[in-house]
This record gives sequence, C-alpha cells and structure tokens, in this order.
Amino acid sequence: MQTTTAIIAAGGAGLRMGTSTPKQFTELLGVPILIHTIRAFRQVPAIGAIIVVAPAEHRERTLALLTQHQLDDHCTVVNGGKLRQDSVRIGLAQVPDDSPLVAVHDGARPLISPEDIQRCLDAATTHGAAIMAVPVKDTLKAVGADTAIRHTVERESLWQAQTPQVIRTDLLKEAFAKADQDDFIGTDEASLLEHGGWPVVVVQGSATNLKITRPDDLLMAEAILMKQQSSQQMRIGHGFDAHRLVAGRPLILGGMEIPHELGLLGHSDADVLTHALCDAILGAIGAGDIGRHFPDSDPQYKGISSIKLLAQVIDLAAAKHFRLANGDITVVAERPKLAPHFPAMQKILAEACQVEPNAINLKASTTEKMGYTGREEGISAHAVVLMASQPST
Ligand code: MG
Repeated sequence: MQTTTAIIAAGGAGLRMGTSTPKQFTELLGVPILIHTIRAFRQVPAIGAIIVVAPAEHRERTLALLTQHQLDDHCTVVNGGKLRQDSVRIGLAQVPDDSPLVAVHDGARPLISPEDIQRCLDAATTHGAAIMAVPVKDTLKAVGADTAIRHTVERESLWQAQTPQVIRTDLLKEAFAKADQDDFIGTDEASLLEHGGWPVVVVQGSATNLKITRPDDLLMAEAILMKQQSSQQMRIGHGFDAHRLVAGRPLILGGMEIPHELGLLGHSDADVLTHALCDAILGAIGAGDIGRHFPDSDPQYKGISSIKLLAQVIDLAAAKHFRLANGDITVVAERPKLAPHFPAMQKILAEACQVEPNAINLKASTTEKMGYTGREEGISAHAVVLMASQPST
C-alpha cells in the first residue's frame, strides 16, 4: 500500500529554552516533546514510515527514546544538517519512491492532532501542496531599530505558517533541486515551492499547534494538554471467548501461527485471543459483540484473519471518536507455552489497533489441569480494554 512518509525535523538546539537539554527531549507532562509529536503521526493510518532528522550528537539519545517508547519499528533516525533546509533535504533522500506525499513537521510541535494531519494530507492530495496555518489575529507593527513604530502592517491577507507541510514527493524534490540551483534558502518547505512558482494552499489549523521554543510555550502546552486529557471520556470494555482444540487446524493466536499439534476450530481463523480483544473494544463503545458485526453465517468471514476483523473494529471505534488507551489480555491454555511468542503478537495487535505495543499487555495462564482448558479440550481468553475519546482541540 502506498503511504505518506513523515519527516520530523528535530534539529533544534533548544538554546531559547534556557536549558542544556535540546527542546525535543524536554518533557511535557512526563513524556518528551518529540515522543508526543511522533505519537500524533502514528495515530494517522495513512502515515507509513516516519523519518526523524536529529543532530548527529543526539542520534544515540533519540534512538534510545524511540526504543523506550516502542516507536523504533516505524521510525528511522538520520543525522541532520546545519539548516532546517539541509535537514529536510537529508530526510527527503530517504523517502521511498512509492510514497506519494511527504509530510514535514517540526519535532517541537507536539500538540498537532491526528485529525489536523489528515486534513493536510487530504488538501495536499487535491492541490499537490498544503500547509497548516492560522490567520494573524494581532495587529502587526513594523518597528525600527530605535523601537519606534514605522507603520501598521495590513494583516488582512496574513497567515502564520505552521506544520505539517504536506507536499507531493516529486514536487518537493523538484522544489529542492530548484532552490539548490538558485542558492535559495527558505525557512519552511512552502517557501521553496513559492520560489519555484508552484502553488501551495493553506489549511486553517489551530493556535494550540504551538511550536515550543521558549519556557512560556512549554507552560501553555502543558495547560492545553491537561485540559484535553481532563475532557477525555474513558470507557471500559470486557471480552471473553473460547474455542475448541482439534487436530488438523493451525493454532492462530494474536495473529500468529503457534507451532502445536492441535489448532482451534472456528468459522474464521478461530484466533480466540483476538476475538476476546475485539469483543472488549466493541463492549467499551457500546457496539454489541463480534458475532453481530461479523456473523458466522456470512461466507465472507470464512477463514478470515481475525487481525483484519480487529482492524475493522478499531475503525468502528474511530468512527465513534474512540481509540484504544490500553488492553490487558489473558489467554487460558494448558499448552503450548505462549510467553515466548508474546512480543511478536504484541506488535501485530498494536499495529492493528494503531497503538504502541506497550499499550497491549499479554498474559498466559493455565487452570492447573482443571476444566476444559485443563483437559486441553480448548483455549479461552479474557480481555479488558480502556477506550479514550479522541481529544478535541
Ligand atoms: Mg470466537
């Protein structure tokens, strides 16, 4: 599938923050600014690869943070250049040829919402290039070096450029080639296109999409984030499922085939773990159960991968403005040992749920040889989830 590549410019030295820590590593409610930013992009299904451009001296720290927050699978880190334009050029060279669009974003704008990213992608798909911007609302003064006002600037047509700046990949490459040829330096990607005479449209964004450059900005960002979190609705859901173990079927759990002499019987791939998770999510959003959405009687679901069903359940939740905050799943099976497979399952489930793997906890239990699971007649699974309403900005 063709997906958009994001380039996150995380090159700032953070000198204006008055700290020795570069601003992208500064914490906002306990999470580094750069991680907030990357998480917003991870929540947009149309975004595939994420290229983080960071100063060479912060490469190791950036990589360690991505690993710690389990974002390393989707992100590559490349060493930045002297100017923003140099850094983005380096990032652009890593963009896969089949990526139709590139979304360039400031690492220090952590409050960008997934919805706003998507609106920029949509506008860029239509117009070729689109940037997030807000109309200027303050009266603008042109001021001389002597602090005397020269004149008031007509603000009618003035907008403040933000990011993301989403541009067709071929167009951005052409714009860079033209700028390099003319030794043109721009402070954002749109100015490179303007220089070459290519049209760029604005998508009206929000003033909350702050660029954190000064300590004041950090205070404002914290207040906005706290307000968003406090207005979030939380919904809990529970799911339970059991399937019979039979010979001649593969054992599929968490989207993976597990080597075992028996497999689970069912209309779909009988992935009991994923079914319990689907039911928990549907429960939380008040949408019934998996049987109602994907009936056994419907031939289109025969043998279907339950991970596909899970992705559809997540889409259904997204349509109701809910996303998975976290899930905790217990698989009850006498055999085989499942723990060694959990990290791989976690990744598959997290991908389908559009969350970081650490949002999904997996556990295995036996029933000490008691009952149907103990006699290895079947495997069951319990899941609980917390669904959070999408923050509104
Ligand atoms: Mg089932």
